[in-house]
Amino acid sequence: MVSYFPDWATTVGKMLAVQDGRGHKHVMVMCDTCKEARDVDLAAIVETKGADFSLINRRARCRLTAGCKGWNRFRYQSGVMRPLWTDRQADGWIELEWQIRKRGFEARQRAAEVLRESRPPKPRR
Ligand SMILES: [Zn+2]
Repeated sequence: MVSYFPDWATTVGKMLAVQDGRGHKHVMVMCDTCKEARDVDLAAIVETKGADFSLINRRARCRLTAGCKGWNRFRYQSGVMRPLWTDRQADGWIELEWQIRKRGFEARQRAAEVLRESRPPKPRR
């Protein structure tokens, strides 16, 4: 697969190596719901996941705001902050969320049917 991300953005080890401490080529995590954003602690990720770990197409439940149910996704700086995920991955995330919502809707529908069926018959005079 040909990556459309710059080579330095493909692993956390490479990201850490190009950082110059003046805020250039930095990496941020942002929440799609609470809109919080923070610099990514690349050294900490290299420490726990290894230098070859990639942030491309990764997301996690929000860790920026307590109680937020949003998704945290990563961006890299190339002039401006750019998404660290592919359109294809974003489509996959949308599809997944749609499936989850659909399952929830179907479960509520089934529950409503069960309630209707188990309702006691109307008292007769
Ligand atoms: Zn959030």
